[in-house]
Amino acid sequence: MEKVIGIDLGTFNSCVSVVEGGTPVVIANRGGYKVTPSMVAVTEAGKRLVGHIAKRQAVTNAENTVYAAKRLIGRKWDSPQVKNALATAPYHIVEGPHGDCRLELRDKVYSIPEVSAMILQEMKMIAEDYLGVEVPKAVVTVPAYFNDGQRQATKDAGAIAGLDVIRIINEPTAAALAYGFGKNIDRTVAVYDLGGGTFDISVLEISSTGVFKVISTAGDTFLGGEDFDQRIIDWLVQGFQEEHDIDLRQDRMALQRLKDAAEKAKCELSAVIETEVNLPFIISSARNDALHLQRVLTRAQFEDLTGDLVQRTAQICEMTLDEAGLEKDEIEDVILVGGMTRMPQVQRSVSEFFEREPCKGVHPDEVVALGASIQGAALVDDSPEMDMVLLDVTPHTLGIMVVGGYFEELIHQNTTVPTSRTQTFTTVRDNQTAVKILVLQGESRRADENELLGEFVLTGLRKAKTGEVELDVTFEINADGIVSVHAKNLETGDEQSITVTATSGLTKDEVEEMMEDAHDYAVGRREDEETEKARQEAETLIDEIEKLFPEVEQVVAGSDFGRDAIDKARTVVERARTLIERGDVPGLKEQIDALARTQRMFKGVVGKSG
Ligand code: AMP
Repeated sequence: MEKVIGIDLGTFNSCVSVVEGGTPVVIANRGGYKVTPSMVAVTEAGKRLVGHIAKRQAVTNAENTVYAAKRLIGRKWDSPQVKNALATAPYHIVEGPHGDCRLELRDKVYSIPEVSAMILQEMKMIAEDYLGVEVPKAVVTVPAYFNDGQRQATKDAGAIAGLDVIRIINEPTAAALAYGFGKNIDRTVAVYDLGGGTFDISVLEISSTGVFKVISTAGDTFLGGEDFDQRIIDWLVQGFQEEHDIDLRQDRMALQRLKDAAEKAKCELSAVIETEVNLPFIISSARNDALHLQRVLTRAQFEDLTGDLVQRTAQICEMTLDEAGLEKDEIEDVILVGGMTRMPQVQRSVSEFFEREPCKGVHPDEVVALGASIQGAALVDDSPEMDMVLLDVTPHTLGIMVVGGYFEELIHQNTTVPTSRTQTFTTVRDNQTAVKILVLQGESRRADENELLGEFVLTGLRKAKTGEVELDVTFEINADGIVSVHAKNLETGDEQSITVTATSGLTKDEVEEMMEDAHDYAVGRREDEETEKARQEAETLIDEIEKLFPEVEQVVAGSDFGRDAIDKARTVVERARTLIERGDVPGLKEQIDALARTQRMFKGVVGKSG
């Protein structure tokens, strides 16, 4: 059976899973970790680092270490989210050629999908190491509240990483799948997902026939753990400023250390009621004295600092229930997802809001990836145990701009996807030969307050009187939540199909070019690993042979045959050394056989003498 992996591409951590023998399992990386930091760095030598090794060097290489790229994916350069990131991120965000934003690491500029692709590629390799085969197909999760641009960009990231992303599913829906899979239950559940960067809430109906139907979903793609960390950072920075009149924000290295310390303090406060932030030598004073930062933060203080953030999630829950037309007591179980739901205040707020204790059975860091792999298996496996139907909804209203700058709704938010809607347009002027349509997503009545997905122009219309030419335009949202538009000239029957390309996205050519780069990297890295393996094997053998040389010489040096054998052994070792230096893997692999033969011979000689 073909394997499809499920990848939870998180803002801060990513996780990969696969279904084996009907059971979804999370795959650990070589270090034994089940989650991998969604971090990418470029070292001074130009080497790319992904995951734990990128995280470990983040403090000393803050400017060239990217975290939370997901917050920027599919965002426009002039969006408030990018402005916010510009003010707080230690790495360089620059304007891209399509009104998008890009990242500058060392002297190279990367698009956000390219950076996300590096993480996806890492997850793919973790799965391939475990499964021992190539896995070209994946289901990737995104926050439910992602719009079309963000989904398209995530798909682009998959393509760049050499993955066929067979479905994009929403994170809370994936969590519900993992929760309900194989349980044969009929239940209405809410999934509360507070991760590192985003908040999502979804209400679903799970039926014992295997149907998972989302009723409503809402969220905020800029509300997550990082905002909690930021509150601690602000508090520390302010305290330090009051004491020393120095703004630590001006120092990138200090800022990165503050970030790490803030996150650590936050996590500790989930378990203990007070913690000390201790950062020796954080900065030097004007007189060159080393200054230290040391402060105690209590859980109560921290809850004070972040109460409004938790409150905001409760308001969004309220909205979702309203949209679903459900009362709180109709929710039979609440599933917590995301690392931030370990925070006691969050758990308390959820219990108070839903008036019930959240379900304890799911692992908040792994449940999304597990759900993604279940969906992946269900898409390729027709056996009865994988028989399930996932019905998700579109998180945003889709519409077009009409006269006066208003937004005309075509597909309402929370409509089950896939879905489509056809609208007939007529010309509004005599002899009009082209019609331009602006496609938007959002909830505002005013078009300019919504997200512009793209625009398209239908040209070549027959010159005629106003209203005589009619066009049917069909707006479609597929199961990935991605929008496409088709138009048909009713007079000529001509079809025109337009994929709405996000204005902030990448062109097809760019994606292809990046795919090649990423492929070269994958090949390069695999070779690296092979070289390392061959080198280690050869060096071990060389070591053993060298250790045996004196003894062997003593035994055999008396005969020509013996001297000859020793000379040959030296040549074998020297050649192996040269091949190691040259990094000649095929040559070294062949030479390993010769080394092994020499080692066996030496052992034989020594064995005989002893
Ligand atoms: P996720 O995106 O689901 O991986 O969640 C990551 C977020 O959860 C980060 O902001 C972490 O700092 C946060 N987190 C992880 N563990 C804890 C914890 N024990 N207490 C509070 N927050 C945590």
